[in-house]
Amino acid sequence: MKFGTKALHAGIEPDPSTGAIMTPIFQTSTYVQDGPGIHKGFEYARTQNPTRSVLEKNIASLENATFGRCFASGMSATETVIKTLRPGDEVISTGDLYGGSFRLFTQLFEQFGIKFTFVDMRDVKNVEEAISNKTKLLWIETPTNPLLNIIDIEQISTIGHKYGAKVAVDNTFASPYLQNPLDLGADIVMHSVTKYIAGHSDVIMGFLGTNDTAIDEQFGFIQNSSGAVPGPQDCFLVIRGIKTLHLRMQRHCENGEVIANHLRNHPKVDKVFWPGFKDHPNHDIATKQMRGFGGMISFIQKEDTIEKAEKTLGSFKLFSLAESLGGVESLVGHPAGMTHASIPKEKRIVSGLTDSLIRLSVGIEDIDDLIADLDQAIG
Ligand SMILES: *Cc1c(COP(=O)(O)O)cnc(C)c1O
Repeated sequence: MKFGTKALHAGIEPDPSTGAIMTPIFQTSTYVQDGPGIHKGFEYARTQNPTRSVLEKNIASLENATFGRCFASGMSATETVIKTLRPGDEVISTGDLYGGSFRLFTQLFEQFGIKFTFVDMRDVKNVEEAISNKTKLLWIETPTNPLLNIIDIEQISTIGHKYGAKVAVDNTFASPYLQNPLDLGADIVMHSVTKYIAGHSDVIMGFLGTNDTAIDEQFGFIQNSSGAVPGPQDCFLVIRGIKTLHLRMQRHCENGEVIANHLRNHPKVDKVFWPGFKDHPNHDIATKQMRGFGGMISFIQKEDTIEKAEKTLGSFKLFSLAESLGGVESLVGHPAGMTHASIPKEKRIVSGLTDSLIRLSVGIEDIDDLIADLDQAIG
């Protein structure tokens, strides 16, 4: 089956007891047993829930993963991967990582003896210099947030495996519609389902997919022990959202391309970050591993001051000033003051994330209205 068909049908059967075509919301904490230990595969809703199981099969199918698990949030999915490690283990990740992941790694897990090193993963040599036999995990995020740098998943996976490390990819920005990390050699794919997969800015959820039985068993054990599960109503909303994932992504990509080019030709804009530009430094890799370039765009105005950035941010009428991304409506954000505020300023500047950088999550509205709003906001 192809993507759009899988989005609607993979893992989804009419409810056997009623024929309901839509997956019911199994709002239950426990399941009645026929005798002690004799049950229908569901014992307690921290461990299994039928609405959740359907969603897990569906997203796993979109990622070409044998196994999939949904979590209470993207961060709890990421946390589950790190909890498979032991004190003394080392992790290598990218310098312009999602702020919440950076905070989780450095402020929560370093105190348990796990060491995190951040390098520019666009250059494999940096990874090779940092890697050792203590390295147990490479944590990739691509495209990166908010600079839209592209990391070569296949190349980094090969190096990781040479040293016996597992490779995980935060695939939130691309969505499974544009990129499938497991097909490129990664061991684990992670999503903040909150973003493109759910797509309607109404749910917080995470996902982990893998083809490795042992890894999936560890994830299941940690999830059942720690309890970071999503509720059945949220699972229902995401099943519903995914039915249009392919259509939404097509429009996100179309609108993204028009806006990236428009901004690039705008007299008051200095720099635009979007991997679809032919002269984007990693355009070749983006073309190799992605099926489109998405709706995430960042830009810096010629008047590169925090004051000008704040004036522009305050002038948008259609783009809403908010954290998050990937919903049907267009959002605008200020990484230095919002999503990336927990990264120390020196670290931010080194990776090119200046105070005045503005990030757009281009929605699926009519393009003419989006362009008009951008033009009046830039002024
Ligand atoms: C939002 C986000 C996360 C965290 O996911 P939550 O669902 O908010 O917990 C992780 N990585 C990326 C790239 C994100 O955008």
